[in-house]
Amino acid sequence: MALSASSSSIYGSISSSHSSITSHDLKGSLIGSFRLISPATASIRRRLTARAEIKRSDSVSPLAATAVVAPTAPVTSPEVVEKVDTEDYDKLAKELVNASPLEIIDRALAEFGNDIAIAFSGAEDVALIEYAKLTGRPFRVFSLDTGRLNPETYQFFDTVEKHYGIRIEYMFPDAVEVQALVRTKGLFSFYEDGHQECCRVRKVRPLRRALKGLRAWITGQRKDQSPGTRSEIPVVQVDPSFEGLDGGVGSLIKWNPVANVEGKDIWNFLRTMNVPVNSLHSKGYISIGCEPCTRPVLPGQHEREGRWWWEDAKAKECGLHKGNIKGGESAKVNGSGNGAVHTNGSANVPDIFNSQNLVTLTRTGIENLAKLENRKEPWLVVLYAPWCQFCQSMEGSYVELADKLADSGVKIGKFRADGDQKAYAQKELQLGSFPTILFFPKHSSRPIKYRSEKRDVDSLMSFVNALR
Ligand code: SF4
Repeated sequence: MALSASSSSIYGSISSSHSSITSHDLKGSLIGSFRLISPATASIRRRLTARAEIKRSDSVSPLAATAVVAPTAPVTSPEVVEKVDTEDYDKLAKELVNASPLEIIDRALAEFGNDIAIAFSGAEDVALIEYAKLTGRPFRVFSLDTGRLNPETYQFFDTVEKHYGIRIEYMFPDAVEVQALVRTKGLFSFYEDGHQECCRVRKVRPLRRALKGLRAWITGQRKDQSPGTRSEIPVVQVDPSFEGLDGGVGSLIKWNPVANVEGKDIWNFLRTMNVPVNSLHSKGYISIGCEPCTRPVLPGQHEREGRWWWEDAKAKECGLHKGNIKGGESAKVNGSGNGAVHTNGSANVPDIFNSQNLVTLTRTGIENLAKLENRKEPWLVVLYAPWCQFCQSMEGSYVELADKLADSGVKIGKFRADGDQKAYAQKELQLGSFPTILFFPKHSSRPIKYRSEKRDVDSLMSFVNALR
């Protein structure tokens, strides 16, 4: 997604540049600058030592390079990172074909440490950042500032930095090249002779510089963006176009953790997790790129119609984004609608969430669950108090969810967290108010808190599906 300018137009700069990379219009220049790597050739290359020796990229800001660290991040130890042959990536892609984005990003970050970064365009690929944060690992984010982005996108960058406590590693075009282009052809030459030249200066070359400082990158490409051209995107691959830090064929690995995720599920995830989104989405923009080259589209219009609309469709990057994406933000958790945690948990009220498909966890049971690094299956657990009216009001949907997920591989549980258990739940299980809903992923001990106040079956199901 991110790479196709158009396709993911939503992926604004990165996408666009990406698209530039893969599109026929820019390929010529890329081939001239780099070796275009065929999968067959790539598979021959063996090297790729993904050791996280902190070899700093000259292509990104050295300070910013370490800025993105999740507060509770279990910093990846360089010693535990495996050596991987590049031909293993075909095999790995098959192994991970049904893995969740969370699992894939966790794997990528664990393997490449400081030598990998997320390509962020300022659109819905913010989901990648949310997933990275959820892994608890340190991560890096870079973006291409073309100098021509919408003010809303710059504001969104700032919002994302503050929301996640990170610094985005911006890549800027070469000032001399921009100066030469603009002095020669003016500020809007792309309206007259096509966007390729400007994109090459403002996007492709800065992207190339960014990638030369890395051994791997994470994109937001999705299959559903363009069934014609992206239906075969693997979740991980040897980058077919660009070179990484060590240079040469096979020196860069590209991770596409949401390749198999549909756009609507990305947006469900963003809403469920209360992730900030670019305000342009609520103004009709699906594709978000540079301001002069992007416009909103009407419901039902192809997103490509919002990009480089003055050019022949064949000259554009191709992308398909189904659905009418809305950028609404979901309600904040811990608002007044939640039950405050208080001490009257010993009230004699009947228990709730009673179903044969629900597991009642004791204190020992949830302690054991919380300790496991590798669970056989993921768990969704509600921390509740039977006297809490907000717990009572979600009883029907939670029980229905448990019934729907019976035999699905996801366990549904409940833990009564009032009374004597309250202090433990507050300290160890993020209990702030009743009900608190936690997802325990298969491959991480850290539970992920459900932050929305929407507790209907569909919302809870979206949360589970986004993380399972
Ligand atoms: Fe490409 Fe238009 Fe941005 Fe220039 S302003 S880099 S032509 S999208």
